[in-house]
Amino acid sequence: MRIDLHSHSTASDGTQTPAEVVEVAVAAGLDVLALTDHDSADGWAEAAQAARRVGITLVRGMEVSTKYDGAGVHLLAYLPDVTYPALANELDLILAGREGRLTSIISQLRLAGLDITEAEVLQQAGRSPAVGRPHIADVMVAKGWVRDRTEAFDRWLNAGRPAYVVRYATATADMIRLVTAAGGASVIAHPWGRASRRVLDAEAVAGFAAAGLAGLEVDHQDHSRADRQALKAIASDLDLVVTGASDYHGDGKVNHELGCNLTAPEEFERLLAVADRNGAAADRPVPEVIRR
Ligand code: AMP
Ligand code: ZN
Ligand code: FE
Ligand code: FE
Repeated sequence: MRIDLHSHSTASDGTQTPAEVVEVAVAAGLDVLALTDHDSADGWAEAAQAARRVGITLVRGMEVSTKYDGAGVHLLAYLPDVTYPALANELDLILAGREGRLTSIISQLRLAGLDITEAEVLQQAGRSPAVGRPHIADVMVAKGWVRDRTEAFDRWLNAGRPAYVVRYATATADMIRLVTAAGGASVIAHPWGRASRRVLDAEAVAGFAAAGLAGLEVDHQDHSRADRQALKAIASDLDLVVTGASDYHGDGKVNHELGCNLTAPEEFERLLAVADRNGAAADRPVPEVIRR
C-alpha cells in the first residue's frame, strides 16, 4: 500500500489541476492520495470525480495556515465538514488575509523598482482562492527576474527579505479545536520545516495533543533522518499518529514527487479512526473517504 497524505493543485499553489494530480498519483503507483490545498476545499469536487473515474482512494483535506508563538504552523485537516460555520468563517479570514497581504507585497516590490501588479498575480493564481507567494514568484519568473520559485523566495519573499509581509493566521490550538468540532482530524505538517522548527518542541506538541491533535507529519522532505527519529519519539510518547507525505506541488516545488514519502497503512487506519470518532461526536456531514 502506497499512501501519500499531502498534495497541492491549482486550487492553491500547485501547478496541476486537481484531476491531473489524481491522475499523476495513479501513474506514481499510489493507492491512497490526500489532496490538501492551502486554506481551501475548492479542489475537492473535481478531485473526487477524478478519483472515482480512475480508481484511487482519495482523502479530502486541506493545509490550514495557523500561528503559534509568532511562527507559521501548517495544520493538515483531514475530512472536516467545511460548512461548519466557525471553521468556514476562520477560513474566510485567512483567505482575506492572503489578499490583503498581496497588496502590501506588490507595494514593496514596486518600491524596489519592479514593474509588477496585483492583477498580474491574480491572473497567475487563476482559480485558486488562496493567493500565495508562489503565484507572485511565478509572475517574477515569467518576467525573467528570477530563475524559479526558490530564487524568488530567497531573494524577495522569505521572512527577512525585502517583500516579506505577515498575514493573518488562526492560533494553532484554536484551529485544532475547530477541525475537531467540524468532525475532522488534524496533523501538523512538516513540524520541523523552516517556519515552525523554532517553536515546536515536545512541550508545544503535548499542548496541541491535549487540544485534540491527531498526528505529526514525520516523513517529509524538510526533515533530516535525525529529525524524523526525534519526531517519531515525540509522537510515540503522546500516542500521536505518524504520517509521511510528499507535499507535491507539480513542478512548483522540486524534490517533492508524489510518493517520495509514504504513510504506513496502520498509521493511516489510526488517522481514519480519529476522523470517524470526531465525525460521530460532531454529528456533522463530513466528507467520506472515496474508496477505490
Ligand atoms: P504562502 O502560502 O503565500 O505564505 O507561501 C508559502 C508557500 O510557498 C508554502 O506553503 C510552500 O508551498 C511554498 N514555498 C515556500 N518556499 C518555497 C520555495 N523556496 N520554492 C517553492 N515554493 C515554496
Ligand atoms: Zn504550497
Ligand atoms: Fe506547508
Ligand atoms: Fe503543503
